Amino acid sequence: MTSSIDSVRREVSELHAELVRYSLVAWTAGNVSGRVPGTDMFVIKASGVGYDDLKPDAMLLCDRDGSVLEGDLSPSSDTAAHAYVYREMPEVGGVVHTHSPYATAWAARGEPVPCVLTAMADEFGGDIPVGPFALIGGDDIGRGIVSTLRDSRSPAVLMRNHGVFTVGRDARAAVKAAVMCEDVARTVHLTRQLGEPLAIPQSDIDRLYDRYQNVYGQR
Ligand SMILES: [Zn+2]
Repeated sequence: MTSSIDSVRREVSELHAELVRYSLVAWTAGNVSGRVPGTDMFVIKASGVGYDDLKPDAMLLCDRDGSVLEGDLSPSSDTAAHAYVYREMPEVGGVVHTHSPYATAWAARGEPVPCVLTAMADEFGGDIPVGPFALIGGDDIGRGIVSTLRDSRSPAVLMRNHGVFTVGRDARAAVKAAVMCEDVARTVHLTRQLGEPLAIPQSDIDRLYDRYQNVYGQR
């Protein structure tokens, strides 16, 4: 158990560097968490720690309610939302939260990113949906994330007036979804500056999604 906790700590700590590399975060606003496989425990970044100081020991082990099990630091202020997702979605092994600018601009308008790129059909299986407005503290954000993702194939949700939450089978997959979400939000935004994007028929979205999820890449 200790070795699997240590390896999630190391992975989650390293993945925070990807948020910086892909310009998804400003200052300390963004976080990655990862489930300890086979448990309801997860590892998340300590609150307010700069991305250059994120060593594995700044990654805190939390129980299913988001209470810290080891260490003196306080956890990310988004811990309750991550904990809610892990409790309600047993298939999820990683959660990411960012305020990445293009995706958050769609969230601020409460507008889903329409599925007008084959890369979106591949990765998201349709539009990137918008979740409800919710204040931090309590389970409102977590409840909004889960109820929105359950009605969608997308691993990303734009929480209204707030930012992006993504999920994945592990922390790396959730980070990939956050990177792709920002990338397509930017491209569709640029498209809008030039004119109206062209729709992709639903049957083609379905075929693209199925191929990418089941056939593409190394098995
Ligand atoms: Zn936030």
